[in-house]
Amino acid sequence: MINTSKINSLRCITCGTTYEPYELDYTCPECGARRGTLEVIYNYDKVREEFLDFVESSDEPDIRKYEPLLPVEDIGLLPPLRIGGTPLYPYHDMTDEIDELWIKDDGGNPTASYKDRATAFAVAEARRQGLKTMTCASTGNAASSLAGLAASAGVETVIFVPKAAPGAKIAQLLVYGANVFAVDGSYDQAYDLATEVAGEYGWYNRSAAMNPYLVEGKKSGALEMAHQLAWDVPDRVFVSVGDGSIISGICKGFKELEKIGVTDKKPEVIGVQAEGADTIANAFDRYEGEEVTIEDQEAYTMADSISVGKPRDIVKAVKYVYENGGRYMRVSDEEIKEAQVELARNRGVFAEPAAATACAGFRQALANGELNKDDRIGVFITGNGLKDIDAVKESVPEPEVVNPELSEVKEIVEEKGLN
Ligand SMILES: *Cc1c(COP(=O)(O)O)cnc(C)c1O
Ligand SMILES: [Zn+2]
Repeated sequence: MINTSKINSLRCITCGTTYEPYELDYTCPECGARRGTLEVIYNYDKVREEFLDFVESSDEPDIRKYEPLLPVEDIGLLPPLRIGGTPLYPYHDMTDEIDELWIKDDGGNPTASYKDRATAFAVAEARRQGLKTMTCASTGNAASSLAGLAASAGVETVIFVPKAAPGAKIAQLLVYGANVFAVDGSYDQAYDLATEVAGEYGWYNRSAAMNPYLVEGKKSGALEMAHQLAWDVPDRVFVSVGDGSIISGICKGFKELEKIGVTDKKPEVIGVQAEGADTIANAFDRYEGEEVTIEDQEAYTMADSISVGKPRDIVKAVKYVYENGGRYMRVSDEEIKEAQVELARNRGVFAEPAAATACAGFRQALANGELNKDDRIGVFITGNGLKDIDAVKESVPEPEVVNPELSEVKEIVEEKGLN
């Protein structure tokens, strides 16, 4: 019944064992959850034949355009919301520091983060299996994404978030009707708890890196960016990194486009982590092409969506970036805040701290003379700033409080030279 002509197999990132499509739900049993994440391998000859014609003739406004490279046999299983199809804004018109700088604003997704790209495929897979309940643990965005997209598809959700998750993200969960457990512990603890509970009840698990379709969804941002630039990809792209799934997806997307001959090169993919949550960057620095060594740590950063000490997609995130020829860098919370304000003031894009992190990486690389003026740069903005308004309060001034009197306003206008 299953048409397996598009997906060839699922392959373990560590031991390389291949499995039939849909043979496993989650990870390689030999290598375990952390090292045994699976890659979706397509029948690339078939994709090569179909991809461009399909894309060019599609009038879908979103990721459905890229169907030949996406892991669903029945596109109707995706939730009935617009997933991706987000704008790519020029930034070089606002700065003369770099000739071409493009901002991909994924804050415009249905639940306001990049996570919707991945969640869509987890929901599709749960529907394919006829499962009625989904669960996940999340720093906030994957959870609100699951709650929203599942709601649109009539699927029940049980969500685990750290108690300290920003209020806006928890409000999203509740308004979408999720059953919410606020865990008195870290994200890493909530993750392990959700995995246990999902196993107990047979719920489909959308936690980061668990199932192979999440990274597939996350690659759609790369496909879109390349398409929006008429397949002439940037020289370098900056991506913020927590669990490592988005960056893995973006590497895979650019790689597959080259493999099927749609583009003639890949951008250098640069992962940006917060200084206080740099487990993947550290593993990357140790990596020499053999086994990825994992040393988890406690995470400390104000960018809650990337406050991850035990990253679940670490093996792919290290191997893919290595193979891409890319690298990792670290930025301070101070740099993140500056980038957040700069992006909002200069380009009108309000990014949450974790999203502004990619931009902070770009700014640091530019300041260090690591970029050429004629480099073509892409920056992925992964979430909307309204997700965490407390985070910006420290970076911006208080409003002027006045009585409703012209004279009071005039005094301040003149004092500030606004007239
Ligand atoms: C989840 C998230 C990230 C990091 O993605 P990973 O796949 O965890 O590396 C970055 N920014 C935002 C806004 C996110 O929600
Ligand atoms: Zn394996």
